[in-house]
Amino acid sequence: MVKEGGIVEVSAAGEKMGMLKELKAEGYERLVAWEDTSARLTAVIAIHSTARGPALGGCRMWPYPSLDDAVQDVLRLSKAMTYKAAIAGLHLGGGKTVILGDSKQDKTPELLRSLGEFINTFEGRYFGAEDVGLTVKDIENIRQETKYMTGASEESGGSGDPSILTALGVFRGIQVCLKEKFGEDSIKDRSITIQGVGKVGGRLAELLHEAGAQLILSDLDQEQADLIAQRLDAETVPEQKALEVFCDVLAPCALGGVIHSKTATRLKCQIVAGGANNQLADDHYGDVLAQREILYAPDYVMNAGGLISVAREVEGYSKEEAIKKTEALADTLANLFELSRKEGMAPHRAANRLAEERLTSNR
Ligand code: NAD
Repeated sequence: MVKEGGIVEVSAAGEKMGMLKELKAEGYERLVAWEDTSARLTAVIAIHSTARGPALGGCRMWPYPSLDDAVQDVLRLSKAMTYKAAIAGLHLGGGKTVILGDSKQDKTPELLRSLGEFINTFEGRYFGAEDVGLTVKDIENIRQETKYMTGASEESGGSGDPSILTALGVFRGIQVCLKEKFGEDSIKDRSITIQGVGKVGGRLAELLHEAGAQLILSDLDQEQADLIAQRLDAETVPEQKALEVFCDVLAPCALGGVIHSKTATRLKCQIVAGGANNQLADDHYGDVLAQREILYAPDYVMNAGGLISVAREVEGYSKEEAIKKTEALADTLANLFELSRKEGMAPHRAANRLAEERLTSNR
């Protein structure tokens, strides 16, 4: 599916910055790899679609085993951004960046500035934002090189940390799921497992704790999970056990692809509703959950709050409007569950249908 295209060296004032390699993937507008040996940066940007507007999507830094793994991830993630923007009613398209590396060891100011140079080569057809492995501080470094980067702190003129609204949208979505499954949206005393307590999962844990949930937390970084658990009076489980905990809600808030051939049949929760992107390794596993009567809340509806937060820098609406739009995701989710019931279609299929209708009609 991915083919190689041309290679272009990018320079500024006679100084070589990095090497662009155009790749091609069927169904995607652009797929480009960037290699800057002096800044030790290898990154890939995919633009899935700009049919509804410029592409916007986060920059993920992860120690991918190979460039091919990184490309597969950026393709999946950028397509999901197209659907997310459409379902949130934004006039934006879908794109994403992946950076090959360990954010705890390999992230340097030079690497971040080189990423800014890479983003500049898209001349405003792609806007970046934070994702796994990047923080608001990193965004400010990247902004030294490019104006096409969203999500800097409010003090420096940006829209601030998007994970706050992402977590709010997930929290409201969980209430909708509880209502759908149990006829009651109260979070009090519901057992909720969060896989990944980083920016989104950590904030979600706080919101759920305030609402009286019994929390079970897990993270690859056990120390981080323990610290949050202590503060929020929660339990922790080892990372490998998180998906098999008996609980009302499983909230995946780490990486994607967690619902797959081995896990879909072993989950012991009633609801899967979290903030991670691309939770289903394949749409088929959403059908498996539906057959098992586990309610699955489509991820790109649940986690669109972050996109809504950063998109205000491109679309120009206020912070209050961003909060309103995030709260409205709960109505979209409730409508999708209704459609899913009426049409006998699993919720992720109902969400895809709605997003695709919006893409073709550009509403
Ligand atoms: P983050 O890097 O702050 O946190 C991710 C956490 O997950 C880390 O603490 C990491 O150690 C942990 N983790 C990774 N693999 C794990 C595993 N197998 N088990 C348990 N923990 C694991 O990232 P984030 O910004 O919180 O994003 C989390 C997810 O939400 C990602 O899928 C991201 O794409 C998605 N998302 C984030 C935003 C946002 O606003 N930040 C918006 C939409 C979607």
